[in-house]
Amino acid sequence: MDFNKTRYIPMSRRRRIYEGKAKVLYEGPEPGTLIQHFKDDATAFNAKKHQVIEGKGVLNNRISEYIFQHLNDIGVPTHFIRRLNMREQLIREVEIIPLEVVVRNVAAGSLSQRLGIEEGTQLPRSIIEFYYKNDQLNDPMVSEEHITAFGWATPQEIDDIMALAIRVNDFLSGLFLGIGIRLVDFKMECGRLFESDMMRIVVADEISPDSCRLWDVKSNEKLDKDRFRRDLGGLIEAYTDVAKRLGIMTENERPMGAGPVLVKG
Ligand code: UDP
Repeated sequence: MDFNKTRYIPMSRRRRIYEGKAKVLYEGPEPGTLIQHFKDDATAFNAKKHQVIEGKGVLNNRISEYIFQHLNDIGVPTHFIRRLNMREQLIREVEIIPLEVVVRNVAAGSLSQRLGIEEGTQLPRSIIEFYYKNDQLNDPMVSEEHITAFGWATPQEIDDIMALAIRVNDFLSGLFLGIGIRLVDFKMECGRLFESDMMRIVVADEISPDSCRLWDVKSNEKLDKDRFRRDLGGLIEAYTDVAKRLGIMTENERPMGAGPVLVKG
C-alpha cells in the first residue's frame, strides 16, 4: 500500500473512532489505518485536574513522531506510519492491550510514594510495572498473574511486551542522555497488529513529555508533565526545550498556533 498518496479527507467528513483525554482517533484513508490527532488538553489525577495548554498537542505530535520513527528505524515495531500535519499522524490500526506499561530507572511519582523511596534515587535496575487501563478503577497496578488470569494478554505476549519495553527504555535512555536529559521513567502502550495471517505486538499510542519523566541532567529541572501535575508552570517552554534539543524545532518555529507555520515534510 502506498501511504504517500493519502487522500485528503476534510475534518468534517471524517468518522471519529475514539476520543480520549489528550487525543482523538479518526478513521484513516486506507483500511487498517487511523489518524491520531493530538489535542491541547492536559489532564492529571484521572482527569480530576484539566487544562487546555495551547501548543501542547503540536509539540507532542512532533516529539512522538521523532521517537516512533527512530524506533521503527532500529527495528522496534510501532503503529506509526508518518506525520500528516502539525497535529496529526497516520498510524496502523491495532487492538490495544488494556495495560499501561511503566518502565522506571529512577524513583519518582507513585513508586516513591508507595515504597517510601526518595525521588531521584537511582534504582538498582530498570523496573517494569503493569497497570490495568480502566479510568473507573483509577488504573490499578496489576501483576502478570492478573493479566493472564483475566486474559488481557497471554504469557507469550507479556514476554514480547517486556522485551519491547526494555528495548524502548535503552533507546530512549541513550537518546535523552545525549541531549543532557535523564529518562526517569515512562509509560508505553502496546497493541496487536494483524497482518495477513500473522499477529505481532507493536508499540502504540504516544511517547512524549506527557508520558515520560524527563529531568535536565545538570539542574534536575523537570521537562515533563509534572510541570502541570505539580503546578510548576512553564510546560510549553519545557516541551519546546525538549523538541529543540532533539533538533525537531528550529529556533524561530512557533508551536502556539500563532499563525501559519511551515511544516517540513
Ligand atoms: N504515566 C502516564 N499515564 C498515566 C500514568 C502514568 O503516562 O496514566 C507516566 C508518568 O508520566 C510517568 C510514569 O508513567 O512518566 C510513571 O508514573 P507514576 O506511576 O509515577 O504515576 P504518577 O506519579 O504520574 O501518578
